[in-house]
Amino acid sequence: MSYSFEMDMPTPCPRCGVVVDLHDMVSHPNEFKSLVCESCHDAIEAENNQGLAIDSYGNKIAWEYLPDEELLEICANGELIATWLCEDEPEDSIKAFMVIWNKAQAMVVWNKAQALVTSEQGGDI
Ligand SMILES: [Zn+2]
Repeated sequence: MSYSFEMDMPTPCPRCGVVVDLHDMVSHPNEFKSLVCESCHDAIEAENNQGLAIDSYGNKIAWEYLPDEELLEICANGELIATWLCEDEPEDSIKAFMVIWNKAQAMVVWNKAQALVTSEQGGDI
């Protein structure tokens, strides 16, 4: 009986369709029961490590997680506004960031409204 080490169990990757050996497949980062090829795994990880959120005021918040440096870079409307240390779960950190960010925005809007009221009152004297 001959035994080939080339491919024990050729399996098409469900994501990209490339046929790889089942033993070379790795778990899907998001779906534990699925297997994907290594290049898909890396691509999914990269996708997981970035995202886009819209705040309560319509600002675009783009974030990217750099796992090697354990940093989370957050941009508002294309401008880098914060770099957070983040050991894992960038999604949780970005959620926490959005809570603070939305509150800060609300305060800025409130302060602007107050300043407007004050200047209008001052003008009446
Ligand atoms: Zn694949």
